[in-house]
Amino acid sequence: MDIITANSVKYRLTLKTKTYRRRVVIKNLILVFVALFLCVEQGPLGDERSRWGIASGDPFVKEVALTFDDGPREKGMPELLAALSKLDVKGTFFLVGKFAERYADTTLSISRAGHEIENHSYTHPKLYELWTEKIMREAERCNEVMEALDIRTPRFLRPPGGGFNLKIFYGLRRMNMKLGLWSVNSADYTGKSAERVAADVLKNIRPGAIILMHSGVPATVEALPEIVGTLRARGYRFVTLQELWDGGVA
Ligand SMILES: [Zn+2]
Repeated sequence: MDIITANSVKYRLTLKTKTYRRRVVIKNLILVFVALFLCVEQGPLGDERSRWGIASGDPFVKEVALTFDDGPREKGMPELLAALSKLDVKGTFFLVGKFAERYADTTLSISRAGHEIENHSYTHPKLYELWTEKIMREAERCNEVMEALDIRTPRFLRPPGGGFNLKIFYGLRRMNMKLGLWSVNSADYTGKSAERVAADVLKNIRPGAIILMHSGVPATVEALPEIVGTLRARGYRFVTLQELWDGGVA
């Protein structure tokens, strides 16, 4: 038989109060997380983030951007440009300044074909390991190469390897440039087949996707007709990074 004493009632009440308090704390925590999520995704933090750059476009518009890093290369560029021209797609080329200088004719052909040229630093170092002044110099030198060739000054920088930190943010902000990241990595630099490159890209596409590929990779050139054909059949349009940015940032 349960013997009720003043102490046991007090104990039960304390237990009830503890459970109640725990529930309130959990409820409040959930509210805080929801509020934070909404702030980051929709609100003032989202706006703040979009000032730093772009990793994907408007998630409600069926547009994608093909981006090609590390060019211009000594080999494989005419093939890449011919494939894009045949498919009537304008890509975005993140060029390495010193290569753009060395292969100036190729740089000019990329630009003349109507593709967008953006900044992938001058010497392709790990930018996050450098001081802000050096980071800015890397970005500036690459821009200067384009300006000397009479090509529109790049507005986006893609840090080599994709690693970035606050030093890069602040440097870019001072230069009025933005980070140009990606949302779908083709991993075409791993030596995989064209079929694999196409399949891996296609399974990850969402509206606003920015696809990371590389210049001078034969498998990428070979995979392009499959990627472009399938996405067009799904209702996607191919745009440059700047066009994606102008259309709205996720
Ligand atoms: Zn790179």
